[in-house]
Amino acid sequence: MRTDAARAADKFPQSPLWFLLCRCCLVLALCMAAPASRADILVLSDTTESYPLGRHLSYFEDKSGTLSFDDIRNGAGRFAFTPSRSGSLNFGFTRSVYWLRADLQNMHSEVTGWFLECQYTVIDHIDLYVVNPDGTVTSYRGGDAVPFAERPVKHRNTIFRIPLVKGQSTRIFLRVQSESSMQIPLVLWSPNGLLENEHEAQYYAGIYYGIVLAMLLYNLLIWISIRDINYLYYANYICGWILFQLSIDGYAFELLWPDSPSWGNIATPFFIGYGFFAIIQFSREFLQLRQNMPKTDRAFRFALWYFALVMLSALLLDYTIAIRAGTFGAFLGAALIFATGAVSLQNGIKQARFFMLAWSVLLLSIFIYTLRTFGMLPQVFITEYGLRIGSALEVILLSFALAHRMRLLKTENERIQRHATETLEQRVKQRTLELDRALQRLAEANEQLKGLSYTDGLTGVKNRICFDRMIASEWQRAARAKAPLALLLLDIDHFKRVNDNYGHLAGDACLKQVAAAVQQAVRRTTDEVFRYGGEEFIILLPHTGTDGALHIAENIRRQIEHLPVEFEGKRIAITVSIGVSSLIPTNQDASDILVANADEAMYIAKDSGRNRVHAYADARKGVIEHGT
Ligand code: GH3
Ligand code: MG
Ligand code: MG
Repeated sequence: MRTDAARAADKFPQSPLWFLLCRCCLVLALCMAAPASRADILVLSDTTESYPLGRHLSYFEDKSGTLSFDDIRNGAGRFAFTPSRSGSLNFGFTRSVYWLRADLQNMHSEVTGWFLECQYTVIDHIDLYVVNPDGTVTSYRGGDAVPFAERPVKHRNTIFRIPLVKGQSTRIFLRVQSESSMQIPLVLWSPNGLLENEHEAQYYAGIYYGIVLAMLLYNLLIWISIRDINYLYYANYICGWILFQLSIDGYAFELLWPDSPSWGNIATPFFIGYGFFAIIQFSREFLQLRQNMPKTDRAFRFALWYFALVMLSALLLDYTIAIRAGTFGAFLGAALIFATGAVSLQNGIKQARFFMLAWSVLLLSIFIYTLRTFGMLPQVFITEYGLRIGSALEVILLSFALAHRMRLLKTENERIQRHATETLEQRVKQRTLELDRALQRLAEANEQLKGLSYTDGLTGVKNRICFDRMIASEWQRAARAKAPLALLLLDIDHFKRVNDNYGHLAGDACLKQVAAAVQQAVRRTTDEVFRYGGEEFIILLPHTGTDGALHIAENIRRQIEHLPVEFEGKRIAITVSIGVSSLIPTNQDASDILVANADEAMYIAKDSGRNRVHAYADARKGVIEHGT
């Protein structure tokens, strides 16, 4: 039911970008507008419920702003009214007062009162003068400089009711003055038309504000939950955007500050500054400009200061300065964000994808809306509500971009963590391997050392330290097995003489050969040969009784007797005396007895003339097996 211009005008200044865009397009639109229109009498008939007044108006610019209605009415001849060529009047920023004039004739069969609506809510003053048939004039005050309670119709837009009986003609005058841009989209409605239009407008406004408010709440809750500053910045941006929209749509004046027209006036530039401050802050953090693009980050920081100043100027300076600074900044700010997003995308910053999608959707919707407003695109649902859809989509997409960014960071974190764990594991493995090797080397060295410390340096057989260690464990083992343990104590006969006659080196050579001969004589792996003292050797024979031990001792004695010991061409005769002892050990460690018995037996062998074997045979000192 709504007309083209009415719809166009309805959301005319939806965003700060719009201010500038529509100024640019104005010139274009004027060139493309329909051929010269006539400001003739507008006949209100049964067939139409709404009439955009644009092309039925004439206007007069009062540059001084001093003329009164009487001046205008009485001096009609002096003030040349220009017929409007545009469906929706727009004079941009101006300090002039504009007087508009229209002639109406009501031919509607039922309607006796028409509603005149100005769909641009931020106009400061819009006063209506209706010339009655009797020549009297009725005047009404409207605009956002008037407290809300004083509005003729309590509505977010300025609406006047013009009573017109059937067939009646009248001339209306409007006096319009505003510090904001002078856009005057006027529509004349029948009561039905107004009702239907309102129904639709409220319906979509409800959906729109519902979505953005839900997004605000949602992102705030996420911030409270995960404390990621991006969500707070984003919620702040939505908050600024909602307040800006509410103030532009007139809802803020109606619902939030109906008694503060002066604040309502400066709210628009203030929220442009606020909204852009927030979106710049959000974009900067979202695209991680500090790390990714430090130079661009400087531009963003400058923009933050700029929009902070816009907010301040709205509060402290003239409205016209603030709104111009805000509109100009909005245009540059949007371009800066868009370009930075595009460069980030090109640089492979993944989170820029949905960010750019969101901004592209918003800018595209503004573009489509601009084209439609000036009749370059058909009036269908998508062009009609494109801007609302676009900005709602932008809000949703940016929220999605945040979630996506979160996922990207999480994946990246996991990758880093995995890499770190893998590296750590690898290092631990490597270190463990190195440690194992070192331990192995240490164990080998230890083994070598142990071997060395247990070996006699001259003869290569085990030494006395080793014997002392082994005898105890062999004793225990034999005790457990209840098996005999035999010990031979071998002493070289008259060895002192060898040394004396042939020298110590010859003596050493003899010791080596004797040791080698003994080693050869014992074949069992469990048998062990030890150098016990200077020229004394012990042979330990587990699981061996006295007979077996005597046999081995005799073998050794014989071999050594025939040993061809030579030193420096001289043959040296060597004999040995061997004491033998064997017993089945008791649980109590008494290994000393075994040595003492063998020692005693050995001395008997010496005393018996040397070069012989003797077995210990005294029952008092152990368990005697055999004796000779
Ligand atoms: P007996 O038949 O009574 O055993 O007479 P003996 O000379 O062998 O006995 P004694 O114990 O008096 O002498 C042992 C000698 O062994 C004394 C020492 O010079 C010699 N001797 C001990 N250890 C070594 C050694 O490592 N090298 C050399 N060359 N001689 C040694
Ligand atoms: Mg000796
Ligand atoms: Mg000797």
